[in-house]
Formats: sequence, structure tokens, C-alpha cells
Amino acid sequence: MMIVMKQGASEEDVAHVVDRVESIGLSAHVSRGEVLTVIGAIGSKEGRVAELGLEGSPGVDQVLPIMKPYKLASRQFKEGRDSVIEVDGRMVGGGNFGLIAGPCTVENRDQMLESARDVAAAGATMLRGGAYKPRTSPYSFQGLGREGLRLLVEAREETGLPVVTELLDLRDLDDVAEVADVIQIGARNMQNYSLLTEVGRAGKPVLLKRGLSATVEELLMASEYVLKEGNDDVMLCERGIRTFENAYRFTLDLLAVPALKESTHLPVIVDPSHAPGRRDWVEPMALAAVAAGADGIIIEVHNDPEHAICDAAQQVESGTFDELAAKIEAVAEVAGKTVSRA
Ligand code: PEP
Ligand code: MN
Repeated sequence: MMIVMKQGASEEDVAHVVDRVESIGLSAHVSRGEVLTVIGAIGSKEGRVAELGLEGSPGVDQVLPIMKPYKLASRQFKEGRDSVIEVDGRMVGGGNFGLIAGPCTVENRDQMLESARDVAAAGATMLRGGAYKPRTSPYSFQGLGREGLRLLVEAREETGLPVVTELLDLRDLDDVAEVADVIQIGARNMQNYSLLTEVGRAGKPVLLKRGLSATVEELLMASEYVLKEGNDDVMLCERGIRTFENAYRFTLDLLAVPALKESTHLPVIVDPSHAPGRRDWVEPMALAAVAAGADGIIIEVHNDPEHAICDAAQQVESGTFDELAAKIEAVAEVAGKTVSRA
């Protein structure tokens, strides 16, 4: 249920509603818009809100059901407004476009710093790089771990770009949260609900990737696990799903972009790298994603892709990334978005 406060309702009015909602064992999520404040009453016994008789309370305008199973993520909860997520001065959502680029994984100091310098020069707004890698084979390189995190800090210091990096395992949460400006939850962990809950408590923006076989609604339900912990800063990411098609790694489901944007206020970004698995198909997918209305792109870019330790075939060469970045920015402008740099 959501309780819509009247314009000009006081902080006391809001606090009173929060108290009443919590008194029946529900959690209260206060969302302050420019004009109106809305309080989400969330829990398994939402129906009991009716018993509170809040309609007559000071400052309360309306008590409405939230129609979707995902409550805090639903577009209705923000009354149709887009959420804007700020990461160190860079915005994503609500007309602001995020251009996140960097290597699949952190390999060594030279590779990370050179790739970072190139993506910064090309106009990226954030830097990506995995220190903990989810690999199909346990015998493949698993990431540099803490040493990788240290190199990401160095790359941030040098370029000024905020860092997006994956958290694979709850045991590394403190280490990752200390370094990451945005914590990435990978496709394989999209339904790791205990991980999502803890990330919701960590107080860092989250980039949540769609699971390989997850529906759009399952992605939204997964985001709800983060939001319910009081963390509003969640970006959703389409990265390709499993279908019968085997001519490429995954099927990039670009219809998820308008579908998600109709259902949620959260920003939607697209990873055009992992579905094609080939660098020459990354550009058309990146541009199509932007045209489809994505609020950002997260793309794999490497200083020497042919010698990359993982995902070598799909990484774009950082020395040439400025050309693609300029095209992405041009399409973003056509789609009504502005690349948000600090
Ligand atoms: C990645 O971004 O490097 C990654 C492993 O992505 P995904 O979780 O989408 O496979
Ligand atoms: Mn990768």
C-alpha cells in the first residue's frame, strides 16, 4: 500500500504515519518528491493498512494499493517520476546518461591504468573492472581479488572516474564496499537473495544485472530485495538472456528497456558486450540500446583486447574507444539524454 501525503504535509504528519504503519509490523519507506511525499507500507500483511484508518489522519491525502508485486521498484510508487542516481557527481536516469567503460577484469597495473586513461579521455563517466570474476570453469582466472581492488583505487585516483566493480561473494562485501562507488551484482547472482539484502544495507549504489534466464519481473523482484533495505540507488542492467539461438553468446533483449521503463522508476542500463561475444557486434548493439531508451551503457574496453585474460573476443580496444563513445553520445542526444559528467 502507499500513503500519499497532501502537499504541505508536515514532518510530524509523516512521522505519525510512519509510526502507525510500523505499529502493525510493516516497514515504512518514505519517498520525498519535489511536491509530494509518499510512504510505502511494505510487508506480507499490507492489507492491514486499511485497519489503521489513515485516510482521516493529518496530512494524509490518499491510501492506495500498489498493484504490482514489486512495490518500491514500481513506477507507481514514485508517481511516474524517474529516479536519478548520483555517483560522485555523475547522474544516471531522468534524462542523464551514464557511460561506463573499462576492462572485463583487472589484470595488472599497466593494463588497468592504460585502459582507464583511454576510457577517461574518450569521455566515459565511470570506470568498470572486475576484481572477482564469475567464471564458467573453476580452472579459469578468478580475478585478482584485493590486489585488483587496489589497482581500481589507483585508476580512480589517476582518472577521477568512479569505479563500478562486481561483488561475487558475501565474504568480500566489506572489501568491495570500501572501494566500489557502485557495487555490481552479476547475472549469476541476480537471485542470490541474501547477497542482495546485504548489499541493500551496504549504502552504496548497486548495478543489478539480469540473470541469464530471468524474466523482467524476476529482475524487478530482485531489485526489491535491495530497495527494501532502504537503498534507493539501484540501476537495472540488461545483458543478454539464454534463448534457443546459438549464433551468439546470449540474446540481447532490448525490449526489456522500454518494458522496464514502463514498470519502474529505476534507471535501466544495457551491457552490449556479453551477448554478442564479438567486438564487431558490440557497436550496433550499443547504439541500438541507446536508441531503445537506455539510461546508460556498461561496455568492456581493454588496452590490448587480443591478449585479454577473459572475454578477449568482445572487448573493444581502448585506443579506438573515443570513436564509439562519440557515436553513443550522439545517439543519446537523439534519444533526449545528456551524458552526465562531473
Ligand atoms: C561482467 O560484467 O564482467 C560480467 C561477468 O557480467 P555478467 O554478470 O552479466 O555475466
Ligand atoms: Mn566480461
